[in-house]
Amino acid sequence: MRAFPAALERLTEQFARLPGVGMKSAQRLAFFILELPDEAAGDFVSAITEAREKLHECAVCCDLTDQELCPVCRSAERDETTVCVVEDPRDVMALERTREYNGLYHVLHGAISPMDGIGPDDLRIPQLMQRLGSEDIREVVLATNPNVEGETTAAYLARLIKPLGI
Ligand code: ZN
Repeated sequence: MRAFPAALERLTEQFARLPGVGMKSAQRLAFFILELPDEAAGDFVSAITEAREKLHECAVCCDLTDQELCPVCRSAERDETTVCVVEDPRDVMALERTREYNGLYHVLHGAISPMDGIGPDDLRIPQLMQRLGSEDIREVVLATNPNVEGETTAAYLARLIKPLGI
């Protein structure tokens, strides 16, 4: 005999797939959702659907956006000669919060990790190289994460970029 109705079990399993959420938290979240008023539960569902439908990669920097270009790439007030290369859209959010950086970004969507089977071709490196060839970029800041994968990626990019004289 099941301890839970199948629908509750399924909802709990979905929450348990989220990073950092164990079974116990997943159960708590499932019950939280069930106890929400219909409208609030609907908002929750539509926020997920809308984010999945509307967000895609910026045509230039590969950050997430709901338009063709992200606000940074659209802005006329950014320093277009500097590009900061990061692993993840969250890195852009963190840097934007500091308000200390006024250049452009390029989001790789990950880092080189042979252990996980992630090579340069799985990242947005071709897009970066294309930008470096066509835009007036004079400085590239490699701001990948301070771990083995991030440093491997930065070293790889440094080797690629060096011959360009940037
Ligand atoms: Zn962009």
